[in-house]
Amino acid sequence: MPYLRDHSKWFLIMGSINMFLCVALGAFGAHGLKASLPPDLMAIYHTGNQYHFYHSLGLFAVTLASGFFPGSRLIGWSGGFILAVGGGSVLDAAKFIAAAVPFEGDTWDILLKGGRNIDKALPFGTVLTLPATGSEMNNGSVITRRDIGAKLAFRSRHLFPVFSVLDPTKTYTLPVKQLANGVVDAFVHTVEQYLTYPVNAPVQDRFAEGLLQTLIEIGPRLLAAPEPVYDDRANLMWTATLALNGLIGAGVPQDWATHMIGHELTAQHNIDHARTLAIVLPALLNERRVQKRDKLLQYGARVWGITSGTIDERITAAIDQTRDFFERMGIPTHLSAYGLGADAIDLLVAQLEAHGMTKLSEHGDLTIDVSRRILEAAL
Ligand SMILES: [Zn+2]
Repeated sequence: MPYLRDHSKWFLIMGSINMFLCVALGAFGAHGLKASLPPDLMAIYHTGNQYHFYHSLGLFAVTLASGFFPGSRLIGWSGGFILAVGGGSVLDAAKFIAAAVPFEGDTWDILLKGGRNIDKALPFGTVLTLPATGSEMNNGSVITRRDIGAKLAFRSRHLFPVFSVLDPTKTYTLPVKQLANGVVDAFVHTVEQYLTYPVNAPVQDRFAEGLLQTLIEIGPRLLAAPEPVYDDRANLMWTATLALNGLIGAGVPQDWATHMIGHELTAQHNIDHARTLAIVLPALLNERRVQKRDKLLQYGARVWGITSGTIDERITAAIDQTRDFFERMGIPTHLSAYGLGADAIDLLVAQLEAHGMTKLSEHGDLTIDVSRRILEAAL
């Protein structure tokens, strides 16, 4: 692996606890991070409490790289290689650090500009432990800032991993909840690039339908298996990667409204990413049944085998099947199941507006008012 040989400085990010929580291991002294450690972290280091130290170091590194400590940066760390071991949050954090280290200026601007201001990044590789986000084979990342309740995405051509290791056995210790989240996240990634309007792209359509059918087939089996089944884990990993590596989305309209609305739910209420999608998508499909009519009928027929009934009945059945699938995966699809009522909606809508999410969907016509109706329908 020439990438590894060429870089004497290493930074390893491990773990997938929650957003900013990463465990960092490696030769931290060699890349200058030690020089910028705050005294309390050095104290943990000197006590020899290794796990806690590395855990805190990971937190610190992400915080530092993202500029959340005023005036601090990864001092003197101008080169090196990042190896991210974990799920989507860890991989996305690695992408942010990779972009933030050589970035001139306030690193939060990377998020505010969606990554358009990135002109270089540190090289990084990944070892995937949680199939879901597809981050292992794309150039996108999503970062949450709890202090201001923002969850924003960015991408750049400089942020493709130089390699990714996909070993299904690395998923064997995942809790069932995480497997369910992975299935639903990959499912919605596929839907958001497929369920728009027809553009005579039969290859992308059938790839997408194959991914959806695979998830519907293996999802319940993954949950029920008393012991991990290698083939099902491998197929989940491969499906999740293909769902968001650019293949099915090439040259077709896309609608990321479900993700954008879901991000606000995570930022404000700390609901797992996939669960926010399961809340939003069925309500969104129902709200947009006219705009998405042709593709909803195709989806119903090819993915769920719904071929009889009026147009409206078939569309309703397709949406019902989608909701039922999420529920069978153990993921509730209503806000009330997460303790949220109508009083939560005003803030969510205000945050969408504050983040410029006012013209969503494949047509750019999903306004704030439509987002409000979708959230109300999801109660
Ligand atoms: Zn997602």
